[in-house]
Amino acid sequence: MAWNKEFECMSLDDLQRFQLKKLNETISWLYEKVPPYRKKLDDAGIKPEGIKSLEKMQELPFTVKADLTGNYPFGLCAVPLKEVVRLHASSGTTGKPVTGPYTADDLEQWTECMARLVWAAGVREEDIFQNAFGHGLFTGGMGHHQGATRIGCTVVPTSSGMTERQILLMKDFGTTAIGCTPSYALTIAERAEEIGMPVKDLRVRVGLFGAEPWTLAMRSEIEERMGIKATNNYGLTELGGPGVAFECVEARDGMHINEDHFIAEIIDPITLQPLPLGEKGELVLTAVQRRAMPLLRFRTKDITSLTREKCPCGRTLVKMGRIVGRTDDMLIINGVNVFPSQIESLLKDIPEVEIQYLIVVRKKKHLDELNLKVEARREVYEAGPEKIAEIAKKIDDYIKGIMGIRVLVELAAPKTLKRSEGKAVRVIDERPK
Ligand code: AMP
Ligand code: ZN
Repeated sequence: MAWNKEFECMSLDDLQRFQLKKLNETISWLYEKVPPYRKKLDDAGIKPEGIKSLEKMQELPFTVKADLTGNYPFGLCAVPLKEVVRLHASSGTTGKPVTGPYTADDLEQWTECMARLVWAAGVREEDIFQNAFGHGLFTGGMGHHQGATRIGCTVVPTSSGMTERQILLMKDFGTTAIGCTPSYALTIAERAEEIGMPVKDLRVRVGLFGAEPWTLAMRSEIEERMGIKATNNYGLTELGGPGVAFECVEARDGMHINEDHFIAEIIDPITLQPLPLGEKGELVLTAVQRRAMPLLRFRTKDITSLTREKCPCGRTLVKMGRIVGRTDDMLIINGVNVFPSQIESLLKDIPEVEIQYLIVVRKKKHLDELNLKVEARREVYEAGPEKIAEIAKKIDDYIKGIMGIRVLVELAAPKTLKRSEGKAVRVIDERPK
């Protein structure tokens, strides 16, 4: 058994008592070891011994990405480097990397959180787990490796890329579970069909997907094409990588947060005030057990909501919904707020195209112009220019009707958009900054 029933099914009272104790230990630790945090805590009037109750969380200072990049590489590290046994890093999409240092204990906790995740997806000792998350500095590969190894299943560390070989190994080894980004799962599904070895004819039954935004539409596409159950999981380098939250295969509607390790809050990103359960806002996370680089109230910029309801799996851990966008990838197109994920979910309703698309935003005179390149299915493309123009107009009208914005749709020839092997690039914003 690799789930921790004591913590995953804890009563709310016990959990909150535990969280408060660990939070206060972390506050004292940061106060003593990390000068920039000591300053932040002093400025906020927080004593090294911490706070009296979790309701006072709001008085703690936030941590933002700039705190990490400003202290790059080790300014927020709370232990000497000789106690750091692993360094991961995320290049992020913008500029300087974020450092992810771990002590031996941090690594052990990460493994535990990942084992819970892999177990909750239904993976067991007898499974063959193909780990197609990129191995290396990116936390996805090593994180899943550690968790799956802890479960005792057979781990195949393929890393991402070399898609045809992935498929051959999947067949030869009899892979039953696969882990990768959802966009790479689609790339694999498509290539497998092309080489006449559709994944649905193989033994794979469950997918562990995460590390990038994806819609329900994309989930059903992956499930249909691969003949599997797809689960979602979430994490970020700043909080130690994947293992922050994971779906249980029983419900597959929202990700349980490992709350004995991470305290989650949702705030309004403008007023910074906390929002109640069920309301969408920015996810804020506090790591309460890490020691190399615990962060207080880290503003993730990811938009979601929290729910605390009885789950069929028996876990009492709060659930976060799928990420509906990031405060920083929201596009403002002539004053209208647009999330790429909204466009993605609408494309699923157009049977003539694949969910392979690229959004390019440009400035034309004083107006923003949203160009959407989307791949036509072969039959549609081969039907000729009239059909292509008809479908492009259909998509434009459909998006206009629902989102209220005009989109310049270009139907691309089949298999011409670049396929993802890791995190997909869906948006290019060419407007002058
Ligand atoms: P990184 O630190 O480079 O692994 O990136 C972390 C970011 O990836 C998060 O802040 C999210 O924006 C995104 N991310 C990770 N997992 C998911 C997921 N399951 N759904 C949506 N976005 C995700
Ligand atoms: Zn559950």
